[in-house]
Amino acid sequence: MRLAFVSLAARESPEALPLGAACAAAAVKAAVLASNRGLASNRGLASNRGLASNRGLASVEPFLLQAALGESADELASRIASSGAGLVGFSVYSWNRPVLAATSARLRQAATGTILFAGGPEATADPYGLIAEAGLDFAIAGEGEGPIARALAAILSGEALGDIPGVVLPVPSGPGVSEAATPASCAPPEDPAALPSPWLLGVIDPEACAGDVVWELSRGCPFRCAYCYESKGASGARPFPMERIEAELALFVRSGVRYAFVLDPTFDADAKRAGGILDLFRAKAPGIRWKFEVRAELLEKGLVRRFAALDCSLQIGLQSARRETLEAVGRPGFDRREFARRIATLARAGVTFGLDLIYGLPGDGLPDFEEAVDFALGLEPNHLDIFPLALLPGTELAERAGEFGIEADPGPPYLVRATRELPPEGVAGAAALAAACDRFYTAGRAVGWFRAALGPLRARPSALLRDYWSWLATRGAPSRDVSRQEASRAVEAEQLGFLDAVYGASGLAALLPALHDLVRLHGAWGRALADGTESLLALTYDPEEALGAAGSGLPAFVRTAEPRRAGWRVVPDEADGARIEPA
Ligand code: SF4
Repeated sequence: MRLAFVSLAARESPEALPLGAACAAAAVKAAVLASNRGLASNRGLASNRGLASNRGLASVEPFLLQAALGESADELASRIASSGAGLVGFSVYSWNRPVLAATSARLRQAATGTILFAGGPEATADPYGLIAEAGLDFAIAGEGEGPIARALAAILSGEALGDIPGVVLPVPSGPGVSEAATPASCAPPEDPAALPSPWLLGVIDPEACAGDVVWELSRGCPFRCAYCYESKGASGARPFPMERIEAELALFVRSGVRYAFVLDPTFDADAKRAGGILDLFRAKAPGIRWKFEVRAELLEKGLVRRFAALDCSLQIGLQSARRETLEAVGRPGFDRREFARRIATLARAGVTFGLDLIYGLPGDGLPDFEEAVDFALGLEPNHLDIFPLALLPGTELAERAGEFGIEADPGPPYLVRATRELPPEGVAGAAALAAACDRFYTAGRAVGWFRAALGPLRARPSALLRDYWSWLATRGAPSRDVSRQEASRAVEAEQLGFLDAVYGASGLAALLPALHDLVRLHGAWGRALADGTESLLALTYDPEEALGAAGSGLPAFVRTAEPRRAGWRVVPDEADGARIEPA
């Protein structure tokens, strides 16, 4: 019997790989293989967990089915039906719940006898609601590998589902039954050493991933941030065995993987293990570009040195720049100076990094958020990702929302509407600033010249971004969703137009030729490196000298530099990534 694991990514991205669904599929595939080998129970997966028999699984063929972005529930349901799947599992997140729940409901209405179930964060947080909305036979609360294999084995063997930890059944309807009698209990966390690898089992083929993979080196997180699902359940990171990591890495190298996003929420939680893994990556996979999520306060010298020796970028959650706010959400001990010092160590070592901020956290008003943007951009991250608070059901913050005066959308993606400190107009103001930052700074690859552009204006970063957003609005409503791949030339033209306007209005027009050179050079360099495209530039100054203006400051540069107008070409270069040559 075919078993479809259905997923839908939030957006198109090299990081949008359905790893959760693949892990569940790998668990079932391992159980099927074990069953076919005639084993009485699946070692590791099923041991001691109440799976009486997995004989029923012998004929199950799991496969992944990815919904396309924009695909309707009707289209997806018909694609699933024509795949011949008699068992269908949905991987449900806040961003895909409406479509996947509607798809499941369509399949239920078709009354084909298909077994429907769901796992993922939404199934964990709201299993009864999801079961009712999607017409599911069962939902999985918590990590899904073990419970799914056991539930399917029981169903296919004609046994009752009974009490499988993590398996939530529909509430019986009838007179006097209006809600779940007992709250759903989560499956106990899986032991990573007992989990099969979706890569090594061939559930996902790295060669089919266009060179990009997402990779789990551990499960769980040692921290307990109040807005995060990871803070629920067992605390602590649970590492996968090094033998598995080494085998997967060897597979990635053989398969020509070029980029790997390590999903561990805090890669540097265990510095010794992280250091060993970085050494392994450097020795065995020097050609792969890496992305890690780290906590700045854990970064120590040895790790920074190892990161610097790899082609990698780090993503660091700052979230707020207010100590009290961070304390309220379970991130105590924040010290701006110490945070800046750690980031400066990274920058000095030449490690690329990006920062995250969240608006709508308890205690942060609009001025606090603006100050956080100023602080973050003052650290000169490669990019700054800003998110509205999502009040995820089941998290500590959702349970304490009344105490903090937080109001949020009742349905997915549960975005903040207002807080005590941030009324609806404040939320709108923060959203506009976030969009301006995303477009001007991040999509516009402004890190190399942003500080130089701000200097003569004596403006705060947040104020400049607000002015940019207002300026942009006078030219027609800008799209708030600029993809990183959007032609950077369009954003660059906007940046130059805006800078012309503000520098002109501030009596600084004499600095514009040097600033234009800086912006254009960095834009062209970014396109050569990231997009592999060539740019032709007409510059006022020698490019080497113009790039120096970012350090010396525009006024000092213009006072001393000799204009040398000429055409230049910025081209991708295999050895150095990019090079500049006369046109
Ligand atoms: S936000 Fe990150 S650090 Fe905090 S609990 Fe979640 S995964 Fe861990």
